[in-house]
Amino acid sequence: ALAPRRIHEAMTPWSASHPQQIALCDEFHRISYGDLPQAVETVAERMAASGVRAGDRVLLIAENCVALALAILAASRLDAWSATVNARLSAREIDNFLAHSGARRAIYFGAASPAAAAHGQARGAIREDWPVIGDVLLGPSNPDAVPEPVFDGAAEQVAVLVYTSGTTGAPKAVMLTHANLLFIANNNRNLRRLAPGDTVYGVLPLSHVYGLSALLAASLISGAALRLVPRFSESALAQALASGEVSVMHGAPAMYAKLLAYCEANGIEPSAPRLRVAQSGGAPLTAALKADFEAAFGTPLHNGYGMTEASPSICQTRMEAPRADCSVGTPIPGIEVRLHGAEGSAEGVGEIRVRGPNVMKGYYRAADASAEAVTADGWLCTGDLARIDADGAFHVVGRSKELIIRSGFNVYPVEVEGVLNAHPGIVQSAVVGRTVEGNEEVVAFIEVARDAPPAEAELRAYLREHLSPYKLPSEIVVLEQLPAAATGKILKKELQRMAARGD
Ligand code: ATP
Ligand code: MG
Repeated sequence: ALAPRRIHEAMTPWSASHPQQIALCDEFHRISYGDLPQAVETVAERMAASGVRAGDRVLLIAENCVALALAILAASRLDAWSATVNARLSAREIDNFLAHSGARRAIYFGAASPAAAAHGQARGAIREDWPVIGDVLLGPSNPDAVPEPVFDGAAEQVAVLVYTSGTTGAPKAVMLTHANLLFIANNNRNLRRLAPGDTVYGVLPLSHVYGLSALLAASLISGAALRLVPRFSESALAQALASGEVSVMHGAPAMYAKLLAYCEANGIEPSAPRLRVAQSGGAPLTAALKADFEAAFGTPLHNGYGMTEASPSICQTRMEAPRADCSVGTPIPGIEVRLHGAEGSAEGVGEIRVRGPNVMKGYYRAADASAEAVTADGWLCTGDLARIDADGAFHVVGRSKELIIRSGFNVYPVEVEGVLNAHPGIVQSAVVGRTVEGNEEVVAFIEVARDAPPAEAELRAYLREHLSPYKLPSEIVVLEQLPAAATGKILKKELQRMAARGD
């Protein structure tokens, strides 16, 4: 069979060989591989009838559902770019994406949030009889015409515009090609041995690169079923795992932490009879969380490191060699990775740089930022710091932007968070720097276990026991909930602001 060149072609072989197998499902819909091509065709026809042409940007405002997946595949079918926006964002944020993407069409899907629904209504895009599940409705066309993108062959063609998480600043619009997404999908299939019969729990948003390539494209290229889940809930996840439906789970560390805290607080015996792969990514995994999950569920918790600009996978731990520590493993096959500046560092720490078929085409409408992120000879500068251990495994120690320099000593927030998270009274934590009179202080934000919150004096004694004095937080702030994006990523930018204000 011919290798797929565009993402909607990934499922083609399975449509013939496994027509009965479920490809996509959510609470309301299930579509088999046999029916998938026609379903995509129908949505593509409706999109084309609404004026979408090759090269147009189509803004999809939705939470995970079958209709959203079909729309992404339909946009691919029409050679349009899809840009999926999480429906939980505010109207202002949706406006920003709409304006920046120069989208020809904005399409609102069923289960959208009140903010998104109001946004659509204000533009006359949503009718009273707004259906529960995705209908294709027109938004405004953008008056500021953006130059048509230049295509250089289907594989190099942009498939999606994906916004970064906005952890460190305003989200950046990353152009990913069909080749980028299919390369990662294939890699993920091979590394996680995905096959027909697998059911992948799809709670990471399709509005994020992780959902697009590691969930959608990887499932379709493998003949696996993808269950699309609109929003994360620890009780729903515990149930889905216990039911024996799910064989593959991808989540941010925060999701695993919440799952464990939920089971613990409610006296629920963790159970996942068919879980074969549990994968963490998108943020640092701590050794304590990994050990707790593995003890509770009896399945290794794999770690993967990546970023939107790398479609996203860069390093993965391997099935055949599960790790006891929280290393992110080794580079995925087919790419080059090096540590820039590690030679000059006493700790062997350098910036991760990546070259290969996973590197983005660039940031949309931001040539300067693109040239800064990707060198002329193709190396993507990640801004993440890492070291390599004696086994050749990578350890991400943090972002260069988040490194705290206290009286000349480097404090890596990830290390302090690892110690905090290992405390039984802490569900999760985030550590940021605060500049006071030209020096940096360490500020820790923690979310505590409801049934057993730690006393401050006891917590401080515990930290003194496990950390050098210069790494100790000057302040520990307890929050009901750490501010997080839909991907479960903690928004450090907000915490830095809070730390600076001292609230
Ligand atoms: P923005 O670029 O808008 O500030 P972001 O970098 O958080 O947001 P993403 O592309 O979603 O947006 O996230 C990639 C970043 O997440 C990486 O650069 C890295 O800092 C972090 N990261 C991802 N996976 C891991 C991991 N397994 N361990 C540690 N850090 C990780
Ligand atoms: Mg980033």
